[in-house]
Amino acid sequence: MFSELPLADYDWWRQLGLCYPVVWVSAVAGAFALGACLGSFLNVCIWRIPRGESVVTAPSHCTTCGAEIRWFDNLPVISYIVLRGRCRACHASYSCRYMVIEALTGLLFVAILFKVAFAQQVPAVLAPYWWAVLLSISCAWIDAEHRIIPDALTFPALLFGIAVHGIFPSICGLKTVAGGLLYGVVSAAVPGLFLSLFAFLGNKIARRDVLGWGDVKFVAACGALLGIPGALFVLLAGSFSGMVYGALLSLKRHRPLGRCAIAFGPFLAAGAVLWTLCGNWVWHWYLVLAGKQ
Ligand SMILES: [Zn+2]
Repeated sequence: MFSELPLADYDWWRQLGLCYPVVWVSAVAGAFALGACLGSFLNVCIWRIPRGESVVTAPSHCTTCGAEIRWFDNLPVISYIVLRGRCRACHASYSCRYMVIEALTGLLFVAILFKVAFAQQVPAVLAPYWWAVLLSISCAWIDAEHRIIPDALTFPALLFGIAVHGIFPSICGLKTVAGGLLYGVVSAAVPGLFLSLFAFLGNKIARRDVLGWGDVKFVAACGALLGIPGALFVLLAGSFSGMVYGALLSLKRHRPLGRCAIAFGPFLAAGAVLWTLCGNWVWHWYLVLAGKQ
C-alpha cells in the first residue's frame, strides 16, 4: 500500500536499524521523552510570553509562592504525578494543564514518528513536523486564553521552516540548498501574502477584524514548515471547523454568527497537527482526484 506514496523509494526504516525491535522501542521512548521535555518548555512559553516575561533568563518557579522549582521536581509528567500536582514548598495545586501539555506533546511526537516511518517519508521531515506540533500547541493555548498569537512563536517557526528545507532539501524532493531555501521562502510567502490581502480587504469592507494578523503569520509559518499544500490544508480545515464551531455557538447563544467572535488559532492549529499525521495521504488523494497521478 505504501509503495505508491511519494518519497516511498527512500527506505530509511532499515537503514537506521528501526526494523530491530530494541532500536524501534528506543526510538519511540526517545521521541516521547523529547516531546515531553519540549512540552515542559511550552508550558513556560504559554505562561510567560503573553505576560511579557523572558522564557530563558528566570529559572522555573512556583507562580504562587515564588519558590524555585528544582530539577528533580521539574521532570516532565513524572514530577506532576509524584507531587500530585502540588508545589513542594507551599502545596498550592498546579493546573493539570502542565501535565496535559507535556503528555500531549510527547504522544504527538511518537504518533508522528510512527506515521513518518510507516509512510517511509525522509527522516528529516520529523524536524519541521515536530516544530509544527510545538507551534500549534503553544499558539492554540495562548490564543484561546489571551486572543493573541505571539510573534515570539511564529517568527522562529517561520525561520526554522525555511532553514530546515535548505539544510535537508530532500524533504521537498529537491537536491540543492538554494532550491530548498527557495521552496521554504515561497511556501511561507504565498499563503502569507494571500491572507494579508484577504485580512486587509476584509477589515476594510466589514470594518472589523475578519482575520487577525497573528493568524496570518501562523499560516505563513505553517507554509514554511509544511509546504504550500500543508498551509492550504491548515487554512481549509481551520476555516471549516471554526465555522462549524461558530455556527453551533451562535445557535446556543441565540446570537447572529457575526457577533460570536471566536479565537481562530486553535482551529488552525488542529489543522496543522492533522496535516503532520495524514497530510501526505490527503495530498496523494488530491492528486489522484485531480487526475495528476
Ligand atoms: Zn509554591
